[in-house]
Amino acid sequence: MTRSIWMNGSLVAPEDATVSVFDHGLLYGDGCFEGIRVYGGNVFKLKAHVERMQASARRIYLEPPCTDQELSDAIEQTVEANRIEDGYVRVVYTRGKGSLGLNPFTCETPSCIIIADTISLYPESMYRDGMAVIIADRPRVPIECLDPQIKSLNYLNNILAKVEAIEAGVLEAIMLNTQGHVAECTGDNIFLVKDGSIITPDTSAGMLHGITRRFVIEEVAPACGYSVEARTVEKEELFEADEIFLTGTAAEVIGVSSINGKPIGSGVVGPVTLQLVEQFRLMVSSACEQSSAV
Ligand code: PMP
Repeated sequence: MTRSIWMNGSLVAPEDATVSVFDHGLLYGDGCFEGIRVYGGNVFKLKAHVERMQASARRIYLEPPCTDQELSDAIEQTVEANRIEDGYVRVVYTRGKGSLGLNPFTCETPSCIIIADTISLYPESMYRDGMAVIIADRPRVPIECLDPQIKSLNYLNNILAKVEAIEAGVLEAIMLNTQGHVAECTGDNIFLVKDGSIITPDTSAGMLHGITRRFVIEEVAPACGYSVEARTVEKEELFEADEIFLTGTAAEVIGVSSINGKPIGSGVVGPVTLQLVEQFRLMVSSACEQSSAV
């Protein structure tokens, strides 16, 4: 149960955490957000999430209402106040109250909202047996139109692709860019395993630079003896891959069993993915133990 919400500098009861109907966050999706995990009461990769949040805000000409330190402290206080051991934190900056018109500079004061809650994960069996996904027809918004590093409050491009997944009876959809290359999923990044090598689309494909993606490239895969190649990935390569897995703050590392109903590899989670899932969990628990110890 959520006990309190961080709202512009203090913790308030959920029923008092309200925004104006004139907030451009509501009127235009003008604002940005972050999703962060809590493991064993410790906020995972807090610095990276705070940096990405502040960068998202600056990319939309929204001067962050708090400093990096203030934001980190507020996140930790909100987690503590809600006694979250294993859960999820949503940090939101809205543009603030303004007039009815697009001009963001009519909005004087941005809002900072932090919600800490429990998280409902994919079922554990999916981590063992794999997840069925589809390739969405709808392409990812091109970088030239909207920088994918902006985790904006307007996620409609991803939501509409997610609806395609839901209609197909699966939980996630792979999104291609407008050139037809693999970009990412609606809320996760994607990796392929082929002949013992791990490959992921490079950032020019137009995807969010996932913090879990970076953790896998820089820490988890090397700890398992793999390096990751980031390059252009063609749609056809997906069907020829030995294994495919997705990464994200909520999903962690999860194997894909089929795409558009066609099995990937032998249709079960492959050995490389299983090793990475296990290594990811080991590293997350040891990171949390270390931060509890200080
Ligand atoms: N892509 C998109 C579009 C996302 O929304 C997310 C989730 N934030 C990701 C990828 C994965 O990023 P992260 O590992 O930082 O959660």
